[in-house]
Amino acid sequence: MKLLNYINGRFAEPQSGKWFDNTDPATQTVYSQIPDSDSRDVDAAVAAAEEAFKTWSVMPVKKRSDILLRLVSLIDANLDQLAEAESLDNGKPVWLAKQVDIPRASANFHFYATAALHLNSETHAMENTAINYTLRQPIGVAGCISPWNLPLYLFTWKIAPALASGNCVVAKPSEITPVTAHLLSELCIKAGLPAGVLNIVHGTGPNVGAAIAAHPRIPVISFTGGTKTGAEISRVAAPMFKKLSLELGGKNPNIIFEDCDFEHALSTTIKSSFSNQGEICLCGSRIFIERSIYDKFKEALVAKTKQLKTGDPKDKENFLGAIVSKPHYEKILSYIDLAQQEGGTILCGGKAIHPQGRCANGLFIEPTIIENLPYTCRTNQEEIFGPVVTLTPFDTEEEVLKMANSTSYGLAATVWTTNLSRAHRVAAALHSGIVWINCWLLRDLRTPFGGVKHSGVGREGGFEALKFFTEEKNICIKL
Ligand code: NAD
Repeated sequence: MKLLNYINGRFAEPQSGKWFDNTDPATQTVYSQIPDSDSRDVDAAVAAAEEAFKTWSVMPVKKRSDILLRLVSLIDANLDQLAEAESLDNGKPVWLAKQVDIPRASANFHFYATAALHLNSETHAMENTAINYTLRQPIGVAGCISPWNLPLYLFTWKIAPALASGNCVVAKPSEITPVTAHLLSELCIKAGLPAGVLNIVHGTGPNVGAAIAAHPRIPVISFTGGTKTGAEISRVAAPMFKKLSLELGGKNPNIIFEDCDFEHALSTTIKSSFSNQGEICLCGSRIFIERSIYDKFKEALVAKTKQLKTGDPKDKENFLGAIVSKPHYEKILSYIDLAQQEGGTILCGGKAIHPQGRCANGLFIEPTIIENLPYTCRTNQEEIFGPVVTLTPFDTEEEVLKMANSTSYGLAATVWTTNLSRAHRVAAALHSGIVWINCWLLRDLRTPFGGVKHSGVGREGGFEALKFFTEEKNICIKL
């Protein structure tokens, strides 16, 4: 399969005339070719988006909404094909893509296509003098850059609010998982999305992502990915005074107090540790357990983890599929080595897996639990982004907060307690954009989503995202 860019409503070959390989991580076989686009393709996409903006930005919001809702129906109708493609590209189990990734991509468009109908702005009356009203206008061409871990889910999480609020978009999916973005372009054509409203340019970060970040006619950028890349985009875009939303890495704490609902905390911790091979920015990779239940919780968690099956993403029995790419697989294994050098004890997992059959050559790693590490060591401070968690005991609330807040990240945290006052106290004291109490990954799309410290700048979700993609103008009328 040869993927193509989607520019001005049509499929287009990259101007370089070059493609590079796309590999299925579950078998390590090359199965498609990705356009090796560059700044020339980004220029063409920007020109198309600028032209389309002239009509899309002034189209009645109901009409825009109806077009996006047609896309929702098409995503729903193609659920199976999209889920299988996502699994093949990313290595995640097909069942997970069917339950989470693709329904959420559809929900993103549905949410923003309808939310835009309800976006309002303020008026400020000055008694007997004047009236001010705030006009909220789309900005122009928005750049949307997304990562590989939840490919279509996060791609649409940016594109949907940008389009719904009247912008046109130049988007770049991760070059590691580009296929569902390509399939989305087919659906956009079927849905009758006007040419140039959404443009998808495939290629590498340094070639396509950097060209979007530096493009003088892309005034607004929404980025999700690694903290280092976010810093690079900021370095380029900030002096150009671009509006930026950056959703970056995490090293999330999962805090378990002795008064928790033990079984609920245990079963959810399995999910928050190992769902999507631990490759969710919201996974809890540092598990802090109150000392009085440390051994009991540890033994139960290890026993349950040993029962998890890892292997062929097509097999419904497997909870974990393949790691997304060879470099990432090697990075995770190198952190497991580092943890041992730092004095950690591996309680389960810790090794690569070579399943029998068609996936024998795939990139699989056992779900891994490590203890006996200081909270300050690299394993406990740096993002691993794989099926690897550490366990650390604590004695007091003050101590666990100090450890939980010790990293440079602050994306999400989970707290397990039945003490209501403690839940509120700890939630308020955590350095984190999101705190889940007695749950994990329970998402309401209306809520603000994002991190503090090196986990990001700005918030996505709800009206926040529609506001981000619009510019406010105050108009003052003298009476
Ligand atoms: P990455 O930063 O390597 O790549 C993300 C995107 O940026 C890709 O499309 C890539 O091609 C592009 N890119 C790379 N270099 C670029 C450059 N110089 N200029 C512009 N674009 C460039 O991240 P990844 O490895 O794809 O994703 C994993 C990371 O994403 C993890 O750190 C994870 O925590 C983070 N993440 C964060 C969230 C969140 O909501 N906070 C969600 C998912 C993933």
